[in-house]
Amino acid sequence: MRVAIFGTGYVGLVTGTCLAEVGHDVVCVDIDQSKVDGLQRGIIPIYEPGLEPMVKANHASGRLAFTTDAAQAIAHGEVIFIAVGTPPDEDGSADLQYVLAVARTIGRHLARPTVVVNKSTVPVGTADKVRTAIAEELAARGQENAFDVVSNPEFLKEGDAVADCMRPDRIVIGASSAHAVTVLRRLYAPFNRNRDRVVEMDVRSAELTKYAANAMLATKISFMNEIANIAERVGADIEQVRQGIGSDPRIGWHFIYPGAGYGGSCFPKDVQALARTAAQHGHQPQLLNAVEAVNAAQKGHLFELIQRHYDRGEDEGVRGKTFAVWGLAFKPNTDDMREAPSRRVLAQLWEAGAKVQVFDPEAMAEARRIFGEREDLVFCDSAFAALHDADALVVITEWKQFRSPDFARMREALGDAVVFDGRNLYDPAEIEAAGLAYYGIGRGRSVHA
Ligand code: NAD
Repeated sequence: MRVAIFGTGYVGLVTGTCLAEVGHDVVCVDIDQSKVDGLQRGIIPIYEPGLEPMVKANHASGRLAFTTDAAQAIAHGEVIFIAVGTPPDEDGSADLQYVLAVARTIGRHLARPTVVVNKSTVPVGTADKVRTAIAEELAARGQENAFDVVSNPEFLKEGDAVADCMRPDRIVIGASSAHAVTVLRRLYAPFNRNRDRVVEMDVRSAELTKYAANAMLATKISFMNEIANIAERVGADIEQVRQGIGSDPRIGWHFIYPGAGYGGSCFPKDVQALARTAAQHGHQPQLLNAVEAVNAAQKGHLFELIQRHYDRGEDEGVRGKTFAVWGLAFKPNTDDMREAPSRRVLAQLWEAGAKVQVFDPEAMAEARRIFGEREDLVFCDSAFAALHDADALVVITEWKQFRSPDFARMREALGDAVVFDGRNLYDPAEIEAAGLAYYGIGRGRSVHA
């Protein structure tokens, strides 16, 4: 099938590439000329495992094209996806300006029946606004083309996006027309062969489903961070508690890791946007507000531990200290630093007069773009290079390569021999046996260290 995709970010690029991979003829359109130029030359703007060779192979085969020419893309698409950003507005609600701009562009150029598929995460009722925007533009041109607007939320996980897209858990199709469902079923048939993954529903339920999924996952994380904070105070070890509850199938092992707080482009903004939607409809979303509040506090927790260690006695706290920082991306296997906990920790360390030496396996270019050059920031080539001449280590992202470091070497390198582990990667007894002080999240002993 001929597909056009508006927005060549995490969702649009991965979706377009996977659709091309199974044989569809895909045109990706973006307003960012440099991104499109780069993609045409084989430069992939994001890091996502497995994506680069797939983009290159499908581009070379002619099934995956990149353009800034919206009219050409609309003329091409039997199905037109909207996969542009929906960042938070000032009041936390989803900013729909990019989605509605695409809708108006579609209305200005559409010349035949089509199915418009919204993949961006949008508040309930957005499909109606998209339909109206397209219809108004068509009417302004005296046109009356038939078109459907479908909600098809995306559930891919950054860091695992290609696998998620090629083997989706579910394909949610929210539609009000049988024809649109038939078209999307045909589009997704290659991903749907060994069992039916399609969940059909009405448009509004599909829109809410995406928010419900992210809010549920964010709730699990904030819940565990809350319990971790209790564990820390009562002298319990959250990692033992986690083992004790995860084996209950009603609770499960996923998303019960305490840590430095959730980040990324989705959870923070989606929980806020859902809370805003609830409030706009007269419901006070107490749980959602608490989930966000717990997370906001948790992002400051690593620095609290650092202060707890350094603000003792007569010295000047962290002023003048050098911290090695392992991990900048909001999670492993991505270079995405949107809302990453590392950003808060770095800001707090800088404000307190400390210097940082950072390493992340993939997010160094993104960090340079965000922070630029500054005297209190050193970019390092490896995890151990970051330890050189540092006083302490702060681990913020749980990349696999950080899991089993040589603690003796670490002890030799760190002037103050202390590790702040924002992801509970290490066994406190093992690290302490190497002569390092250890602070984890909710591990009891941190209070007494
Ligand atoms: P992104 O910021 O990475 O990419 C958005 C792209 O859209 C950018 O390249 C931008 O230049 C382009 N764009 C903006 N206006 C445009 C226009 N008028 N025409 C063409 N292109 C335009 O965003 P993303 O992370 O891919 O997220 C997109 C949507 O998908 C959001 O609503 C997000 O909540 C949702 N989502 C994201 C993820 C994720 O893991 N990132 C997962 C599921 C859903």
